[in-house]
Amino acid sequence: MGLEERLPNGILLASLEKLVNWGRKNSLWPATFGLACCAIEMMTTGGPRYDIARFGMERFSATPRQADLMIVAGRVTNKMAPVLRQIYDQMAEPKWVLAMGVCASSGGMFNNYAVVQGVDHVVPVDMYLPGCPPRPEMLLDSILKLHAKIQDEPINAKRAALRAERGDRTELVASSVKFAKK
Ligand code: SF4
Repeated sequence: MGLEERLPNGILLASLEKLVNWGRKNSLWPATFGLACCAIEMMTTGGPRYDIARFGMERFSATPRQADLMIVAGRVTNKMAPVLRQIYDQMAEPKWVLAMGVCASSGGMFNNYAVVQGVDHVVPVDMYLPGCPPRPEMLLDSILKLHAKIQDEPINAKRAALRAERGDRTELVASSVKFAKK
């Protein structure tokens, strides 16, 4: 819980919200979480041709404690799911999750017992990016769409209420249970 949780709602807060969200969306630090082929496209996005640094994201963090965006790039196995969840739990609030590619979003063509059928079984997802693999331009586009979403988010207790209303759950559940909606 931060200072923002204690701020009252009102006109002043509406302007503060805009300012805070502007700062947040322009300084996202991704957690390094490449799991399969999609990770190559994610790494390319960090290279000079696509230059993710233009959006304040030049630093891919190797520690979850200094990251606020988890880009899940690739299929998530049942064995990896608890590790992914632990890393998510170690990230500081507020934090966001981007499911990159069909495998992370829905299991893709890996409809089998070993692969989680969508990372939203494990963590709440803020942005889904289709494609196999999505090109770096598509990743940048989804990041910009996430920026727009962050800009309009409430910053205080309303954010938690919104997430609860959306059906986000904080406890780890079996991957056979749909995580996103209650
Ligand atoms: S979506 Fe395609 S490119 Fe991405 S991890 Fe799955 S198989 Fe690989």
